[in-house]
Amino acid sequence: MFCSNCGAEINDEAVVCVKCGCAVRKQSKSNEFDPDKSDKDWITTLLLCFFVGGLGIHRFYVGKTGTGILQLFTLGICGIWTLIDFIIIAMGNFTDSEGKRICNTDNR
Ligand SMILES: [Zn+2]
Repeated sequence: MFCSNCGAEINDEAVVCVKCGCAVRKQSKSNEFDPDKSDKDWITTLLLCFFVGGLGIHRFYVGKTGTGILQLFTLGICGIWTLIDFIIIAMGNFTDSEGKRICNTDNR
């Protein structure tokens, strides 16, 4: 990344710019709007998958209606598909219908 003060290229992990000595304002997305992050609630998705995941409800919730219906009729292919979904959601890599990641924002 680049120093926001002098523009020098600095290490991504650096907290202070070695060139100008200024504290680097990290372009962290955690406190700002992240266009890649879904506005769907992570814990809701996780709980829906846990309790009614076999019916594909968590997929309906995130807007993936097509695969939700498929999951409903196959009962999450005997739970295996649902289990995989649950793991992906728990890791914060599940995406909504727009391809945005649904991740836990509570531990900022
Ligand atoms: Zn600098």
